[in-house]
Amino acid sequence: MTRHALVALIISALVVAAPLAQKNAPAKPGGNAKLDALKQEAVADVESRTQFAQQMVDQIFSYGELGFQEFETNRYLIDILKKNGFAVQEGIAGIPTAFMATWGSGKPVIALGSDIDCIPQASQKPAVAWHEPMIEGAPGHGEGHNSGQAVNITAALAVKKIMEREKLPGTIRIWTGTAEELVGTKAYFVRAGFFKDVDIALFTHVGENLDVSWGERAGNGLVSVQYSFVGETAHAAANPWRGRSALDAVELMDIGWNFRREHLRLSQRSHNVITDGGDQPNVVPRTASVWYYFRETDYPHIKELWETGDTMAKAAAMMAGVDLLPTKVLGSAWPQHFNKAVAETTWANIQKVGLPQWSDEDQQLAKALQKELKNPRAEGLRTKLSDGLQGPVRENTGGGSDDIGDISWNVPTVTLRYPSNIPGLPGHNWANAISMATPIAHKGVIAGAKVQAMTLLDLVSRPELVEQAWKYFKDVQTKETKYEALIRPEDTPAIWLNKATMDKYRPEMKKYYYDPSRFKNYLEQLNIKYPTVRSTTTQ
Ligand SMILES: [Zn+2]
Repeated sequence: MTRHALVALIISALVVAAPLAQKNAPAKPGGNAKLDALKQEAVADVESRTQFAQQMVDQIFSYGELGFQEFETNRYLIDILKKNGFAVQEGIAGIPTAFMATWGSGKPVIALGSDIDCIPQASQKPAVAWHEPMIEGAPGHGEGHNSGQAVNITAALAVKKIMEREKLPGTIRIWTGTAEELVGTKAYFVRAGFFKDVDIALFTHVGENLDVSWGERAGNGLVSVQYSFVGETAHAAANPWRGRSALDAVELMDIGWNFRREHLRLSQRSHNVITDGGDQPNVVPRTASVWYYFRETDYPHIKELWETGDTMAKAAAMMAGVDLLPTKVLGSAWPQHFNKAVAETTWANIQKVGLPQWSDEDQQLAKALQKELKNPRAEGLRTKLSDGLQGPVRENTGGGSDDIGDISWNVPTVTLRYPSNIPGLPGHNWANAISMATPIAHKGVIAGAKVQAMTLLDLVSRPELVEQAWKYFKDVQTKETKYEALIRPEDTPAIWLNKATMDKYRPEMKKYYYDPSRFKNYLEQLNIKYPTVRSTTTQ
């Protein structure tokens, strides 16, 4: 379909549906009466789906699945989407727990994504303002990835209803940020071509406020690499000179890296865990592995850091007299860059929706947890939007990563943040799970879904917006910087990760799966009073 035909179709659809609207009036930037009415309708529709969204948030929280092992979550979401008329491609890009769902036809194609995986060791009773795991050592939603799909699906269903009635052309895609905590999949989605025909990607991620930004975002991109060494076993007391320790190579590599750290750029972040440290002390370790994250602010510096790591590994293998196996890339992420036109549109909708009305109980839980964590100022939940739309970071001193970066360098993208987290927490921690199956998370999700629904309507009703987004993408964002994947041709998704951990904990976790047919919400099922706070921290 040509752009002209598309505009004509949209206008005719709007005119048919709105006999009172001025004939042949094109959609004006900044909104028109018809579009505003549809947005209001979508907001009311989202509001009416409060219970639906709450159940989704609580259900995925109760599954608590680590990256690449999101089998229950995947099945659950696919069922909801199929029931609601979406066609679902399962197991995309060679990843069993990833899908791409599609509804509608024609342009624009809008892809709504959000992450679904959780954090090791973050098991926590929701609404309890101190560390109390549901299952000791088990994973849990210590970031809040249980909530983003509820934002997108609730918004999509509200807009789908309107698009069907108004006969608005356009395609809605819903996809999973599988294994985001491992930055494990989005580069593979790009490589497999899943974003080739997408016009705009609307991503959403849990946060402390209702927010969006454009331009370079503070934080890093990264490559995640596993180094494995092979030596020879020997009796560690009787004949140690016969052996060659792979663990020696791991330790030498780590020592080398920690000396080099002094001479790296301030913006870098690098960290590692030893995933194989040998078997028992009296057997010289034949195998050992160390897993590194190399983070930097741009592609050339990530590559440079990675090369330094490779050199350390080769040198360590020589020192220990062992072999270095071919390295494995377990994940990667480009630094994030968000689209100006789409962010401005989203920001306008954020201002219309505003923050949720927090109850005294919500604030009591937030403040009690902040005190528990010894935050100097226990200020509770956010009650004000940020002063204005945030633009590009001025001085990027580095930080976290999200592989939405890879999508953002292939398609105009923004990340909408919605307020389901309590401010001032460490992140990747049990404390971050506390709000995530409570009214705080539920209200934050509804606020996010309202914004997402309004932005979706903007994009399907105002073709000029999609054009502006691509103009920024081509003429500004990618004018000098071209995307090159960090994953190498031989790399494949690390779908074996976390399997052993989930196998260990899943049987016990199953006992706590949320049953919405019996309980209004997860707190009711767990019989937890809202909020549960120490008597000394109550106001
Ligand atoms: Zn995340």
